[in-house]
Amino acid sequence: MLDVLKLRKDFPILKREVNGKPLVYLDNAATSQTPQQVIDVITAYYQNYNANIHRGVHALSQEATDKYEQARIKIQKHFNAAKSHEIIFTSGTTHSINIVANGFSSLIKKGDEILVSAMEHHSNIVPWQMLCERTGAELKVIPMNQDGELLMDVYSELLTNQTKLVFCNHISNALGTINPIEEIIEKAHTVGAAVLIDGAQAAPHLVADVQKLDVDFYTVSAHKVCGPTGVGMLFGKEEWLNKLPPYQGGGEMIAEVTFEKTTYADLPHKFEAGTPNICGGIAFGAALDYMNGIGFDAIASCEHELLEYATQKLLQIEGLKIYGTAKEKTSVISFNIEGIHPYDIGSILDKLGIAVRTGHHCAQPIMDFYKIPGTVRASFSFYNTLDEVNVLVEGVKRAKMMLS
Ligand code: PMP
Repeated sequence: MLDVLKLRKDFPILKREVNGKPLVYLDNAATSQTPQQVIDVITAYYQNYNANIHRGVHALSQEATDKYEQARIKIQKHFNAAKSHEIIFTSGTTHSINIVANGFSSLIKKGDEILVSAMEHHSNIVPWQMLCERTGAELKVIPMNQDGELLMDVYSELLTNQTKLVFCNHISNALGTINPIEEIIEKAHTVGAAVLIDGAQAAPHLVADVQKLDVDFYTVSAHKVCGPTGVGMLFGKEEWLNKLPPYQGGGEMIAEVTFEKTTYADLPHKFEAGTPNICGGIAFGAALDYMNGIGFDAIASCEHELLEYATQKLLQIEGLKIYGTAKEKTSVISFNIEGIHPYDIGSILDKLGIAVRTGHHCAQPIMDFYKIPGTVRASFSFYNTLDEVNVLVEGVKRAKMMLS
Protein backbone atom coordinates (compact mmCIF):
# COMPACT_ATOMS: atom_id res chain seq x y z
CA MET A 1 0.00 0.00 0.00
CA LEU A 2 1.28 3.45 -0.90
CA ASP A 3 1.57 6.05 1.82
CA VAL A 4 -0.17 8.65 -0.36
CA LEU A 5 -0.24 11.37 2.28
CA LYS A 6 3.54 11.08 2.63
CA LEU A 7 4.03 11.06 -1.14
CA ARG A 8 1.91 14.16 -1.54
CA LYS A 9 4.50 16.07 0.48
CA ASP A 10 6.89 15.60 -2.48
CA PHE A 11 4.62 17.80 -4.62
CA PRO A 12 4.78 21.46 -3.49
CA ILE A 13 1.96 22.47 -5.84
CA LEU A 14 -0.52 20.19 -4.08
CA LYS A 15 -0.35 22.48 -1.05
CA ARG A 16 -1.71 25.48 -2.90
CA GLU A 17 -5.21 26.86 -2.92
CA VAL A 18 -7.33 27.75 -5.93
CA ASN A 19 -10.22 30.18 -5.52
CA GLY A 20 -9.77 29.95 -1.76
CA LYS A 21 -10.13 26.15 -1.73
CA PRO A 22 -7.48 23.44 -1.47
CA LEU A 23 -6.42 22.42 -4.97
CA VAL A 24 -7.86 19.09 -6.11
CA TYR A 25 -5.81 18.31 -9.18
CA LEU A 26 -7.61 15.82 -11.42
CA ASP A 27 -6.18 16.79 -14.80
CA ASN A 28 -3.29 14.34 -14.73
CA ALA A 29 -3.94 13.01 -18.22
CA ALA A 30 -3.19 16.50 -19.56
CA THR A 31 -0.06 16.92 -17.47
CA SER A 32 1.21 15.42 -14.25
CA GLN A 33 2.61 17.40 -11.34
CA THR A 34 6.33 17.59 -10.60
CA PRO A 35 7.87 16.33 -7.35
CA GLN A 36 10.52 18.30 -5.46
CA GLN A 37 13.09 15.62 -6.37
CA VAL A 38 12.70 16.52 -10.06
CA ILE A 39 12.48 20.27 -9.39
CA ASP A 40 15.81 19.95 -7.50
CA VAL A 41 17.43 18.32 -10.54
CA ILE A 42 16.21 21.18 -12.75
CA THR A 43 17.51 23.78 -10.28
CA ALA A 44 20.85 21.99 -9.91
CA TYR A 45 21.34 22.01 -13.67
CA TYR A 46 20.95 25.79 -13.94
CA GLN A 47 22.85 26.47 -10.72
CA ASN A 48 25.81 24.19 -11.35
CA TYR A 49 26.43 22.91 -14.85
CA ASN A 50 24.35 24.73 -17.46
CA ALA A 51 26.31 24.33 -20.71
CA ASN A 52 25.83 23.20 -24.27
CA ILE A 53 26.51 19.52 -24.83
CA HIS A 54 28.42 17.21 -27.17
CA ARG A 55 30.76 19.88 -28.47
CA GLY A 56 32.59 21.54 -25.62
CA VAL A 57 35.91 20.42 -24.18
CA HIS A 58 35.34 22.37 -20.98
CA ALA A 59 34.27 20.80 -17.71
CA LEU A 60 30.73 22.13 -17.60
CA SER A 61 29.98 20.91 -21.10
CA GLN A 62 31.40 17.49 -20.24
CA GLU A 63 29.33 17.32 -17.08
CA ALA A 64 26.12 18.33 -18.88
CA THR A 65 26.85 15.85 -21.70
CA ASP A 66 27.45 13.01 -19.22
CA LYS A 67 24.22 13.73 -17.32
CA TYR A 68 22.22 14.01 -20.56
CA GLU A 69 23.59 10.74 -21.94
CA GLN A 70 23.07 9.05 -18.58
CA ALA A 71 19.42 10.11 -18.79
CA ARG A 72 19.17 8.52 -22.23
CA ILE A 73 20.47 5.26 -20.73
CA LYS A 74 17.95 5.49 -17.86
CA ILE A 75 15.17 5.87 -20.42
CA GLN A 76 16.58 2.99 -22.50
CA LYS A 77 16.64 0.72 -19.42
CA HIS A 78 13.17 1.79 -18.30
CA PHE A 79 11.61 0.83 -21.64
CA ASN A 80 14.07 -2.04 -22.16
CA ALA A 81 15.31 -0.83 -25.54
CA ALA A 82 18.18 -2.94 -26.85
CA LYS A 83 20.42 0.06 -27.57
CA SER A 84 20.65 3.56 -26.12
CA HIS A 85 20.82 5.10 -29.62
CA GLU A 86 17.32 3.74 -30.25
CA ILE A 87 16.13 6.44 -27.81
CA ILE A 88 15.77 9.80 -29.56
CA PHE A 89 15.18 12.84 -27.36
CA THR A 90 12.30 14.91 -28.75
CA SER A 91 10.14 17.76 -27.50
CA GLY A 92 7.35 15.26 -26.75
CA THR A 93 4.99 12.77 -28.32
CA THR A 94 3.80 15.17 -31.03
CA HIS A 95 7.36 15.76 -32.19
CA SER A 96 8.13 12.03 -32.01
CA ILE A 97 5.17 11.12 -34.21
CA ASN A 98 6.03 13.83 -36.71
CA ILE A 99 9.58 12.47 -37.06
CA VAL A 100 8.17 9.09 -38.08
CA ALA A 101 5.37 10.46 -40.29
CA ASN A 102 7.80 12.72 -42.08
CA GLY A 103 10.36 9.94 -42.47
CA PHE A 104 7.87 7.57 -44.03
CA SER A 105 7.18 10.07 -46.86
CA SER A 106 10.06 8.50 -48.74
CA LEU A 107 8.97 4.91 -47.99
CA ILE A 108 5.25 5.18 -48.77
CA LYS A 109 3.61 5.48 -52.18
CA LYS A 110 0.17 5.82 -53.76
CA GLY A 111 -1.88 2.68 -53.19
CA ASP A 112 -0.29 1.97 -49.78
CA GLU A 113 -2.55 1.96 -46.74
CA ILE A 114 -2.12 3.31 -43.24
CA LEU A 115 -4.34 2.12 -40.39
CA VAL A 116 -5.13 4.35 -37.46
CA SER A 117 -7.42 3.62 -34.52
CA ALA A 118 -10.72 5.44 -34.03
CA MET A 119 -9.64 6.71 -30.61
CA GLU A 120 -6.50 8.64 -31.46
CA HIS A 121 -5.33 11.98 -30.14
CA HIS A 122 -5.11 14.57 -32.94
CA SER A 123 -1.33 14.29 -32.76
CA ASN A 124 -1.69 10.71 -33.99
CA ILE A 125 -4.13 11.60 -36.78
CA VAL A 126 -3.03 14.86 -38.39
CA PRO A 127 0.62 13.88 -39.17
CA TRP A 128 -0.65 10.76 -40.98
CA GLN A 129 -3.23 12.76 -42.92
CA MET A 130 -0.41 15.08 -43.98
CA LEU A 131 1.66 12.03 -44.95
CA CYS A 132 -1.26 10.70 -47.06
CA GLU A 133 -1.62 14.09 -48.77
CA ARG A 134 2.08 14.06 -49.65
CA THR A 135 2.21 10.48 -50.88
CA GLY A 136 -1.28 9.54 -52.10
CA ALA A 137 -1.47 6.71 -49.52
CA GLU A 138 -4.87 6.01 -47.95
CA LEU A 139 -5.78 6.38 -44.27
CA LYS A 140 -8.17 3.73 -42.93
CA VAL A 141 -9.75 3.69 -39.49
CA ILE A 142 -9.98 0.75 -37.07
CA PRO A 143 -13.45 1.31 -35.57
CA MET A 144 -14.51 0.99 -31.92
CA ASN A 145 -17.67 -0.03 -30.06
CA GLN A 146 -19.80 2.00 -27.62
CA ASP A 147 -17.62 0.89 -24.68
CA GLY A 148 -14.62 2.46 -26.40
CA GLU A 149 -12.93 -0.82 -27.36
CA LEU A 150 -11.38 -1.42 -30.77
CA LEU A 151 -13.12 -3.91 -33.06
CA MET A 152 -10.27 -6.33 -33.46
CA ASP A 153 -12.09 -8.50 -36.02
CA VAL A 154 -12.47 -5.50 -38.29
CA TYR A 155 -8.81 -4.68 -37.68
CA SER A 156 -7.83 -8.15 -38.93
CA GLU A 157 -9.95 -7.62 -42.04
CA LEU A 158 -8.43 -4.21 -42.72
CA LEU A 159 -4.88 -5.58 -42.63
CA THR A 160 -3.70 -6.45 -46.16
CA ASN A 161 -0.46 -6.56 -48.08
CA GLN A 162 -1.11 -2.87 -48.88
CA THR A 163 -0.91 -1.97 -45.18
CA LYS A 164 2.44 -0.33 -44.54
CA LEU A 165 1.87 1.29 -41.17
CA VAL A 166 -0.40 0.90 -38.15
CA PHE A 167 -0.79 3.60 -35.50
CA CYS A 168 -2.55 3.27 -32.22
CA ASN A 169 -2.36 4.72 -28.76
CA HIS A 170 -1.48 2.35 -25.94
CA ILE A 171 -4.07 4.08 -23.74
CA SER A 172 -6.72 6.54 -24.92
CA ASN A 173 -6.44 9.99 -23.30
CA ALA A 174 -10.17 10.66 -23.71
CA LEU A 175 -11.56 7.28 -22.57
CA GLY A 176 -8.81 5.55 -20.61
CA THR A 177 -9.10 2.37 -22.70
CA ILE A 178 -6.00 0.18 -22.60
CA ASN A 179 -5.68 -1.12 -26.14
CA PRO A 180 -4.56 -4.70 -26.92
CA ILE A 181 -1.31 -3.52 -28.44
CA GLU A 182 0.40 -6.93 -28.25
CA GLU A 183 -2.21 -8.32 -30.65
CA ILE A 184 -2.18 -5.17 -32.79
CA ILE A 185 1.60 -5.38 -33.22
CA GLU A 186 1.68 -9.12 -33.84
CA LYS A 187 -1.03 -8.99 -36.50
CA ALA A 188 0.50 -5.96 -38.26
CA HIS A 189 3.81 -7.77 -38.52
CA THR A 190 2.19 -10.73 -40.28
CA VAL A 191 1.58 -8.42 -43.28
CA GLY A 192 4.94 -6.67 -42.90
CA ALA A 193 3.50 -3.37 -41.60
CA ALA A 194 5.41 -1.22 -39.12
CA VAL A 195 3.67 -0.20 -35.89
CA LEU A 196 3.87 3.04 -33.94
CA ILE A 197 2.36 2.97 -30.47
CA ASP A 198 1.66 6.32 -28.87
CA GLY A 199 2.56 5.68 -25.25
CA ALA A 200 1.84 9.22 -23.98
CA GLN A 201 -0.99 8.07 -21.70
CA ALA A 202 0.48 4.67 -20.85
CA ALA A 203 3.84 5.77 -19.47
CA PRO A 204 2.39 7.23 -16.22
CA HIS A 205 0.56 3.99 -15.42
CA LEU A 206 2.63 1.06 -16.65
CA VAL A 207 6.01 0.14 -18.07
CA ALA A 208 6.12 -0.86 -21.72
CA ASP A 209 8.89 -3.31 -22.63
CA VAL A 210 9.60 -2.36 -26.22
CA GLN A 211 11.61 -5.52 -26.97
CA LYS A 212 8.98 -7.84 -25.57
CA LEU A 213 6.27 -5.95 -27.45
CA ASP A 214 8.42 -6.08 -30.59
CA VAL A 215 7.07 -2.60 -31.36
CA ASP A 216 8.73 -0.59 -34.14
CA PHE A 217 8.16 2.88 -32.64
CA TYR A 218 6.98 4.00 -29.18
CA THR A 219 6.48 7.60 -28.05
CA VAL A 220 6.35 9.27 -24.63
CA SER A 221 6.09 12.84 -23.22
CA ALA A 222 8.01 13.51 -20.00
CA HIS A 223 5.36 15.88 -18.64
CA LYS A 224 2.93 12.98 -18.21
CA VAL A 225 5.39 11.10 -15.96
CA CYS A 226 6.20 13.77 -13.37
CA GLY A 227 8.80 15.37 -15.64
CA PRO A 228 8.94 18.78 -17.31
CA THR A 229 7.14 19.92 -20.46
CA GLY A 230 8.89 20.24 -23.81
CA VAL A 231 10.78 16.95 -23.70
CA GLY A 232 9.98 13.37 -24.57
CA MET A 233 11.24 10.41 -26.46
CA LEU A 234 10.88 8.46 -29.63
CA PHE A 235 11.92 4.84 -29.37
CA GLY A 236 12.58 3.34 -32.79
CA LYS A 237 14.10 0.01 -33.73
CA GLU A 238 17.60 0.66 -35.05
CA GLU A 239 16.79 -0.80 -38.46
CA TRP A 240 13.84 1.58 -38.89
CA LEU A 241 15.65 4.65 -37.60
CA ASN A 242 18.48 3.94 -40.03
CA LYS A 243 15.98 3.74 -42.89
CA LEU A 244 14.17 7.00 -42.08
CA PRO A 245 15.62 10.31 -43.30
CA PRO A 246 16.22 13.05 -40.72
CA TYR A 247 13.30 15.29 -39.81
CA GLN A 248 15.16 18.56 -39.31
CA GLY A 249 18.50 19.78 -40.58
CA GLY A 250 20.94 21.76 -38.49
CA GLY A 251 23.85 21.49 -36.11
CA GLU A 252 24.48 18.29 -34.12
CA MET A 253 22.86 16.01 -36.72
CA ILE A 254 25.62 16.06 -39.33
CA ALA A 255 28.76 14.04 -40.01
CA GLU A 256 30.21 16.45 -42.59
CA VAL A 257 28.90 19.59 -44.29
CA THR A 258 30.07 21.19 -47.52
CA PHE A 259 28.01 23.38 -49.83
CA GLU A 260 27.87 20.47 -52.26
CA LYS A 261 26.74 17.76 -49.88
CA THR A 262 26.01 16.94 -46.24
CA THR A 263 26.31 13.53 -44.63
CA TYR A 264 24.35 12.77 -41.49
CA ALA A 265 25.51 11.76 -38.05
CA ASP A 266 24.84 8.31 -36.66
CA LEU A 267 21.92 7.55 -34.37
CA PRO A 268 20.64 9.08 -32.20
CA HIS A 269 22.11 12.42 -33.33
CA LYS A 270 20.67 12.16 -36.85
CA PHE A 271 17.28 13.04 -35.35
CA GLU A 272 18.48 15.55 -32.77
CA ALA A 273 19.23 18.73 -34.73
CA GLY A 274 20.12 21.86 -32.77
CA THR A 275 20.63 22.42 -29.06
CA PRO A 276 18.24 20.07 -27.29
CA ASN A 277 16.28 20.56 -24.09
CA ILE A 278 19.30 19.47 -22.06
CA CYS A 279 17.89 20.20 -18.62
CA GLY A 280 14.57 18.65 -19.67
CA GLY A 281 16.23 15.43 -20.80
CA ILE A 282 18.11 15.11 -17.51
CA ALA A 283 14.91 15.85 -15.56
CA PHE A 284 13.02 13.26 -17.64
CA GLY A 285 15.51 10.65 -16.40
CA ALA A 286 15.07 11.89 -12.82
CA ALA A 287 11.28 11.69 -13.17
CA LEU A 288 11.50 8.03 -14.22
CA ASP A 289 13.80 7.41 -11.22
CA TYR A 290 11.17 8.97 -8.98
CA MET A 291 8.34 6.87 -10.37
CA ASN A 292 10.40 3.68 -10.28
CA GLY A 293 11.23 4.51 -6.67
CA ILE A 294 7.52 4.31 -5.91
CA GLY A 295 7.05 1.27 -8.15
CA PHE A 296 4.63 0.87 -11.04
CA ASP A 297 2.77 -2.03 -9.39
CA ALA A 298 1.97 0.15 -6.39
CA ILE A 299 1.02 3.05 -8.69
CA ALA A 300 -1.33 0.82 -10.71
CA SER A 301 -3.12 -0.61 -7.69
CA CYS A 302 -3.56 2.82 -6.09
CA GLU A 303 -4.97 4.29 -9.31
CA HIS A 304 -7.22 1.29 -9.82
CA GLU A 305 -8.75 1.86 -6.40
CA LEU A 306 -9.35 5.54 -7.23
CA LEU A 307 -10.93 4.59 -10.56
CA GLU A 308 -13.28 2.00 -9.04
CA TYR A 309 -14.34 4.27 -6.19
CA ALA A 310 -14.87 7.34 -8.38
CA THR A 311 -16.79 5.36 -11.02
CA GLN A 312 -19.13 3.88 -8.46
CA LYS A 313 -19.71 7.24 -6.70
CA LEU A 314 -20.21 9.26 -9.89
CA LEU A 315 -22.66 6.75 -11.33
CA GLN A 316 -24.92 7.36 -8.34
CA ILE A 317 -25.59 10.85 -9.71
CA GLU A 318 -28.76 10.74 -11.77
CA GLY A 319 -28.31 11.66 -15.44
CA LEU A 320 -24.52 11.14 -15.34
CA LYS A 321 -23.12 9.06 -18.18
CA ILE A 322 -19.56 7.78 -18.40
CA TYR A 323 -17.97 7.43 -21.84
CA GLY A 324 -15.35 4.72 -22.07
CA THR A 325 -16.41 1.63 -20.20
CA ALA A 326 -13.79 -0.77 -21.56
CA LYS A 327 -12.93 -3.79 -19.44
CA GLU A 328 -9.28 -2.73 -19.51
CA LYS A 329 -8.95 0.92 -18.58
CA THR A 330 -6.84 3.32 -16.53
CA SER A 331 -7.82 6.03 -14.10
CA VAL A 332 -9.58 8.34 -16.56
CA ILE A 333 -13.29 9.10 -16.27
CA SER A 334 -14.94 11.02 -19.10
CA PHE A 335 -18.51 11.97 -18.32
CA ASN A 336 -21.46 14.24 -19.02
CA ILE A 337 -24.66 15.09 -17.21
CA GLU A 338 -27.77 15.02 -19.32
CA GLY A 339 -28.76 18.49 -20.56
CA ILE A 340 -25.67 20.28 -19.19
CA HIS A 341 -22.68 21.46 -21.22
CA PRO A 342 -19.38 19.98 -19.98
CA TYR A 343 -17.73 23.41 -20.00
CA ASP A 344 -20.28 24.72 -17.47
CA ILE A 345 -19.60 21.82 -15.11
CA GLY A 346 -15.84 22.37 -15.45
CA SER A 347 -16.20 26.08 -14.66
CA ILE A 348 -18.13 25.42 -11.46
CA LEU A 349 -15.66 22.74 -10.41
CA ASP A 350 -12.84 25.24 -10.96
CA LYS A 351 -14.54 27.69 -8.58
CA LEU A 352 -14.39 24.89 -6.02
CA GLY A 353 -10.66 24.39 -6.58
CA ILE A 354 -11.14 21.21 -8.62
CA ALA A 355 -9.09 20.98 -11.83
CA VAL A 356 -10.65 18.78 -14.51
CA ARG A 357 -10.50 18.94 -18.28
CA THR A 358 -13.51 19.80 -20.43
CA GLY A 359 -13.89 19.65 -24.20
CA HIS A 360 -12.91 17.22 -26.92
CA HIS A 361 -9.51 16.36 -25.38
CA CYS A 362 -7.81 16.64 -28.80
CA ALA A 363 -9.82 13.60 -29.87
CA GLN A 364 -12.70 15.09 -31.86
CA PRO A 365 -13.49 11.87 -33.77
CA ILE A 366 -14.35 10.19 -30.44
CA MET A 367 -16.78 13.00 -29.58
CA ASP A 368 -18.33 12.72 -33.06
CA PHE A 369 -18.70 8.97 -32.52
CA TYR A 370 -20.71 9.57 -29.33
CA LYS A 371 -22.45 12.60 -30.91
CA ILE A 372 -21.45 14.92 -28.08
CA PRO A 373 -19.59 18.26 -28.06
CA GLY A 374 -17.16 17.04 -25.41
CA THR A 375 -16.94 15.60 -21.91
CA VAL A 376 -15.76 16.47 -18.43
CA ARG A 377 -12.65 14.40 -17.82
CA ALA A 378 -11.31 13.60 -14.36
CA SER A 379 -7.99 11.78 -14.50
CA PHE A 380 -6.37 10.41 -11.36
CA SER A 381 -2.75 9.94 -10.41
CA PHE A 382 -1.15 7.96 -7.60
CA TYR A 383 -0.97 11.14 -5.51
CA ASN A 384 -4.75 11.62 -5.51
CA THR A 385 -6.84 10.48 -2.55
CA LEU A 386 -10.28 9.01 -1.97
CA ASP A 387 -11.11 12.24 -0.10
CA GLU A 388 -10.40 14.17 -3.27
CA VAL A 389 -12.77 11.86 -5.15
CA ASN A 390 -15.43 12.75 -2.56
CA VAL A 391 -14.77 16.46 -3.15
CA LEU A 392 -15.18 15.89 -6.90
CA VAL A 393 -18.44 13.99 -6.46
CA GLU A 394 -19.89 16.67 -4.17
CA GLY A 395 -18.72 19.33 -6.65
CA VAL A 396 -20.44 17.58 -9.55
CA LYS A 397 -23.65 17.28 -7.53
CA ARG A 398 -23.48 20.99 -6.75
CA ALA A 399 -22.83 21.88 -10.39
CA LYS A 400 -25.77 19.75 -11.43
CA MET A 401 -28.03 21.49 -8.91
CA MET A 402 -26.91 24.96 -10.02
CA LEU A 403 -27.17 24.23 -13.75
CA SER A 404 -30.36 22.13 -13.94
N1 PMP B 1 -1.12 11.31 -27.56
C1 PMP B 1 -1.86 11.20 -26.46
C2 PMP B 1 -2.65 9.94 -26.23
C3 PMP B 1 -1.89 12.25 -25.53
O1 PMP B 1 -2.66 12.15 -24.45
C4 PMP B 1 -1.13 13.41 -25.77
C5 PMP B 1 -1.15 14.57 -24.79
N2 PMP B 1 -2.42 14.96 -24.38
C6 PMP B 1 -0.37 13.47 -26.93
C7 PMP B 1 -0.38 12.40 -27.78
C8 PMP B 1 0.45 14.68 -27.27
O2 PMP B 1 1.47 14.83 -26.36
P1 PMP B 1 2.34 16.18 -26.32
O3 PMP B 1 1.36 17.30 -26.34
O4 PMP B 1 3.12 16.08 -25.06
O5 PMP B 1 3.20 16.17 -27.53
